[in-house]
Amino acid sequence: MKKYVSVVFIVFLISNTANAQGLMGKSENDFTHQDTLRGSITKERVWWDVKQYHLDIKINPTDSTISGSNTIRYKILNSCNRMQIDLQEPLKINKVIQDGKELKYQRDGNVFYIDLVALQNPGEIKKLTVFYGGKPKIAVRPPWDGGITWSKDNNGKPFIASTCQGLGASVWWPNKDHMYDEVDDMIISVNVPNNLTNVSNGRLQSVIDMKDGTRTFNWYVSNPINNYGVNINIGDYVSFSEVYKGEKGNLDCIYYVLRDNLDKAKIHFQDVPRMLKAFEHWFGPYPFYEDSYKLVEAPYLGMEHQSSVTYGNGFKNGYRGTDLSGTGWGLKFDFIIIHESGHEWFANNITYKDIADMWIHEGFTNYSESLFVEYYYGKQAGAEYVRGLRKGIENDKPIIGYYDVNNEGSGDMYNKGGNMLHTLRQIVNDDQKWRTILRGLNSTFYHQTVTTKQIEDYLSKSVGLDLALFFDQYLRDIRIPTFEYKFNNNKLSYRWTNCVPGFNMPVKVTLNGKEQWLKPQVEWTILPQMSKNLKVGVDKDFYVELLKSM
Ligand SMILES: [Zn+2]
Repeated sequence: MKKYVSVVFIVFLISNTANAQGLMGKSENDFTHQDTLRGSITKERVWWDVKQYHLDIKINPTDSTISGSNTIRYKILNSCNRMQIDLQEPLKINKVIQDGKELKYQRDGNVFYIDLVALQNPGEIKKLTVFYGGKPKIAVRPPWDGGITWSKDNNGKPFIASTCQGLGASVWWPNKDHMYDEVDDMIISVNVPNNLTNVSNGRLQSVIDMKDGTRTFNWYVSNPINNYGVNINIGDYVSFSEVYKGEKGNLDCIYYVLRDNLDKAKIHFQDVPRMLKAFEHWFGPYPFYEDSYKLVEAPYLGMEHQSSVTYGNGFKNGYRGTDLSGTGWGLKFDFIIIHESGHEWFANNITYKDIADMWIHEGFTNYSESLFVEYYYGKQAGAEYVRGLRKGIENDKPIIGYYDVNNEGSGDMYNKGGNMLHTLRQIVNDDQKWRTILRGLNSTFYHQTVTTKQIEDYLSKSVGLDLALFFDQYLRDIRIPTFEYKFNNNKLSYRWTNCVPGFNMPVKVTLNGKEQWLKPQVEWTILPQMSKNLKVGVDKDFYVELLKSM
């Protein structure tokens, strides 16, 4: 059973008239022409549907270069003879070939416009090959400020990886770099020096000895994959594996770690089957059985690369050994294994179309951490964990960013997003139904790219309540809704303040320790039968504040 707050919170209601616009950070006018090219579905993008990429590249650790090609198969939706392909400075396209002919192109910063000569008939599938190369941007602070990391392991062997969420996959390979259009399947061929192994996404199909001191690793991803999920990891890897018997049958789990870390990993990665058991319970089957599940050591903290989750948390529990929730529960598991794998359901299965809606990835995945805790340590433990994360909420700007300019919203998409979902669960007030809703999300939007609107509509419908104002409050406004109450002539009055107009979330309160549901509005409601000595509390699982006014 839950516990309820029995004492009145001390709340300092800061006069806060800020709303969703004009907060600190970027304003609408701060975005550039390049941001629009990167972040919007331009007319040079919208007419074609990407079907398959074959990325075929050579990685040269001695001079930090990449060279090779991407063969793009696409379906023509509407006839057009100009195609936008993204590839970021300082990389260069060397040539583009279609039907054996070289095509002309113009560069505009990080965008190439390719002039197609052949007729582009709607319904047809065509392909072209983009050849490129150069020294890609070096990652500054991966995975947040990404690019390519060229590092060495403790034995002096190259240890190389790509990271590109937000920045975009075009930082290291040419593609249609917008999230709305996921490729249906993908071949990733990576040529590296003989003494190294490349691990990418999907299944390893073959390793070809090129007889020139290099080997080519051919990986095949049989499911749709988002661009930033595609990755290379190159190092002196050793591997081990196990078969997890899951909801959809046998799931191959394959682990790649640096040679020196094999023994540690064999013990520490036991969190993987634990994770799969908990998340399949809450969210439904792991979404990529065909492509296996892999955990791959990387020279940075970690990232949700699809079917090859990358790991750099030092074989320690917590987040780099610390508990972000401050409750102790965060030290019961390896944060990176749980969090990054949670993204297989929310980021890789259900993917945002526009990064402004990144809370769909991070809010749900943050919340998944508490569900993992709940699965193993009980409902109270999970609730304590998610509430503990509130200390990380800043309420600096709205969770949703600006659309069509490749802009993320506030970092509150993590902890506040998780607490918003935890609050919604209180409203649902039915654990079985809540689990059905979470599993239904993953089956309804299976392998799709989505908008916040779609998720909102799904949740409103399945909860059976119009949640539009609830989401406006938590996703588009920075204020914490406040349950305000007062006593007038021995009668209790209450209302929502510090909230969006019309906010009317039902809330569970305690009156002299007895729990009761109320439906406050922004106008005062009077409970006539109540006396003024009443002790009023709000269920602490709601992310709201409490204010007693005179
Ligand atoms: Zn995340």
